[in-house]
Amino acid sequence: MNLAQFILETATQYENKPAIIFERFTEQKVWTYREFSLQVQSYAAKLDRMGIKKGDRVAVQLPKCVEFLFWHFAILSIGAIALPLNPDYRPEEIDYFLTDSGSSLYITTKAILAKFPNTLPNTVQNTIAHLSELKILIQEETILDLAPDFPLTYPASGDDIAMICYTSGTTGRSKGAAISHRNLIANTKALHQAWGWSDRDVLLHVLPLFHVHGLNVATLGGLHAGATMVMFEKFEPQKAWEAIATKGCTIFMGVPTIYQRLINTWSSLGSNLEHKPDLSKMRLFISGSAPLSDQQFHRFEQMTGFRILERYGMTETGMNASNLIDPEHRKAKSVGFPLSGVEIRIVNYQGDRDGVDVKRSEVGEVWIRGENVFQGYWQMPDKTAEAFVDGWFRTGDLGYQDANDNGRLYLVGRAKELIITGGFNVYPKEIENVLECHEAVKESAVIGLPDEDFGEKVIAAIALKDGDNVNAEAIIAHCKERLVSYKCPKQIFFVKELPRNAMGKIQKNILTQELRQQQI
Ligand code: AMP
Repeated sequence: MNLAQFILETATQYENKPAIIFERFTEQKVWTYREFSLQVQSYAAKLDRMGIKKGDRVAVQLPKCVEFLFWHFAILSIGAIALPLNPDYRPEEIDYFLTDSGSSLYITTKAILAKFPNTLPNTVQNTIAHLSELKILIQEETILDLAPDFPLTYPASGDDIAMICYTSGTTGRSKGAAISHRNLIANTKALHQAWGWSDRDVLLHVLPLFHVHGLNVATLGGLHAGATMVMFEKFEPQKAWEAIATKGCTIFMGVPTIYQRLINTWSSLGSNLEHKPDLSKMRLFISGSAPLSDQQFHRFEQMTGFRILERYGMTETGMNASNLIDPEHRKAKSVGFPLSGVEIRIVNYQGDRDGVDVKRSEVGEVWIRGENVFQGYWQMPDKTAEAFVDGWFRTGDLGYQDANDNGRLYLVGRAKELIITGGFNVYPKEIENVLECHEAVKESAVIGLPDEDFGEKVIAAIALKDGDNVNAEAIIAHCKERLVSYKCPKQIFFVKELPRNAMGKIQKNILTQELRQQQI
């Protein structure tokens, strides 16, 4: 089945019920399920008129707005492939995504487009720029002429690719995870069951829409259930608490950085219980995309009485595991149990027992199999082949299953050199490549150091070429020109040379210890 059809079928049952209440500053706009599907249909007609066909790639780089969703489901409904892109990406990054995917259409705003030098690749035959940025996105007049009689025929389904989501790449080049309609539907159904979604739910949606967390987990979950989504353009802790208390919210999803900010704000709301938000309608606070600390789990429970439900997933697989709906079965530091239809193995990942299952309760690499697992990396057959063994996807995450607790899954680290900052992934190689194209930099090493707010922060150690002199601000500015802000190093350490082992490989563990000490 086509994912858009799967979602729009729900819409026919709920007609006049609010699907999305989009809030920006003090403005609020309600979209009923009927209005939502009419918009999708109209946007699909527009794409069709522009000659977009099944299998064409369409990149959407918009600030968070409801139009993003109209485009997204319209693209899927006509069988094209959606590429959601972070609005903060720099022109060089966008240039790579558009070229690599061979996109035929790039939907963005004039403000974003204005940042581009004349570097748009030839593959982009057409660009639609909204007339001006955010103001228009929530106003009726910017919406295209309605075309309610445009027949949606859903030419793509099941194993056809629905989306390409770019993830930071281990070797420096971002990889496009190609995710099928079937993958997304299977995951939406599994989460619907696991989290007890219903049409009585009201989701407070504060996550970005270009990332799988906000798009595939939160939005698909809410729309499929016939729930209402109260959607904020961006997360603000005070406003989030207010909305939870006053808008009848029942579900909230966030990354640990968001929970840390909710915790900080709660403490500042005064010591009396009457100053605290009313949480009587809430049923689930869900966290993922990065590890939630023991302290965050317990502090949140002490303050609010709610045990955060932690789940584990990734762009390539959607959601893999989740704690249970019964709060008694939620544990700090555990990501719970495999979701329905998802199989998990814990496998030896180094030495001569590589690829063999470890003993129960021992640490190994998490391997995943199921209908949720993506189709491969876009036009990267070698990377795809490396990522799979006999149909099992190697996540690069390290974990164990507790033999005394029905195989409950714990994640303890990563076999891959990944930094997760504020819930976003950064592979050091990509940043090192950018640093090393600075004329004064001889070599660099990027690591993640713990950070209370972001979980981890990106730090770079740099050795300069002999005789060259440049300061940290200039290096950071060089990165900011070329990289989305969360990937830019927050601090630069200048070193004479990087620590290397006998084979000449940079010893990042030693570097991490040294830089941690220098930070103290
Ligand atoms: P992304 O593809 O951006 O969703 O990031 C996926 C990666 O985030 C996974 O491979 C894990 O390393 C990490 N991750 C996701 N959820 C969790 C979690 N609950 N605890 C620890 N790490 C997580």
